[in-house]
Amino acid sequence: MTTTPPVRVLVLGGTAEARELASRLVSGGAPVVTSLAGRVSRPRLPAGEVRIGGFGGVEGLSRFLAEEAVTHLVDATHPFAVTMTAHAAAAAAATGLPAVRYARPGWGGRSDAADWTWVGSLEEARERTSGLGRRPFLSTGRQTLHAFGSWVDRDVLVRVVEPVTDDIPRRWTVVEDRGPYSLAGERELLRAHAVDVLLTKDSGGSYTSAKLDAARELEIPVVVLRRPDAPPGMTTVSTLEAVLDLLGDLPTVDGGGGVTGADRGQPPGR
Ligand code: NAP
Repeated sequence: MTTTPPVRVLVLGGTAEARELASRLVSGGAPVVTSLAGRVSRPRLPAGEVRIGGFGGVEGLSRFLAEEAVTHLVDATHPFAVTMTAHAAAAAAATGLPAVRYARPGWGGRSDAADWTWVGSLEEARERTSGLGRRPFLSTGRQTLHAFGSWVDRDVLVRVVEPVTDDIPRRWTVVEDRGPYSLAGERELLRAHAVDVLLTKDSGGSYTSAKLDAARELEIPVVVLRRPDAPPGMTTVSTLEAVLDLLGDLPTVDGGGGVTGADRGQPPGR
């Protein structure tokens, strides 16, 4: 009689999608550990086991995969977490583990996306945004602020999740908040700060999309930073169902069962 080795799924997290996935895997009986970078002081914690902090590059991640007997790797980090995703692809290739990239769809499918100015870099974002307004709402994240440091003579509205530690030009206003955001709240924010151009990353999802609805309503131009390319070597899917389908034959910890269609809330036999 052959016995199936126990399953252990590593989810690289920090997103709503990763939390949703962990919760579905846990309820399906698959042991899962979610990894968080440790950047946020009060992270929303997923179901199942959680570890926090960097692995120490590709080598550290590969070591973790071996030492923790991980059998499946799901990279569900944010679409702009390019370094972690590249490390996941490299570690999966080095260890031969099945790996999948789970990234929510971008906002390019929205009906107003054709009206936006799409840019490929922070430098291009700065140039194009400068040409569209004098009171930008900068919502590209704390780690991108350095690229806009020359905007000392503008009333810039910045929104970040964690406090900004860099020196901020005197005329900038920094708001600390995290989604999900409402249309009414975003409309009020844009009006209160007389925002005349919105700059965002193509994060996708619904948590932070209300600002786009508010900008459309108020006829404020939008500049969108395109997503980085996905690294080769990992299958990329954009829905929870597709990830669960790829992981569908997982045996549970006792070697049987799996994450079944019923566990996924689907009719049996799908
Ligand atoms: P990044 O630049 O791609 O990664 C930089 C380093 O941080 C990685 O090399 C890794 O360190 C560590 N790291 C990143 N994600 C990790 C994770 N889930 N678990 C353990 N270590 C992780 O990442 P980032 O853009 O700063 O994002 C950090 C975290 O915030 C991610 O979990 C991401 O999902 C979340 N997040 C990012 C954004 C965004 O706009 N970038 C937005 C919302 C949420 P080692 O090399 O030492 O392993």
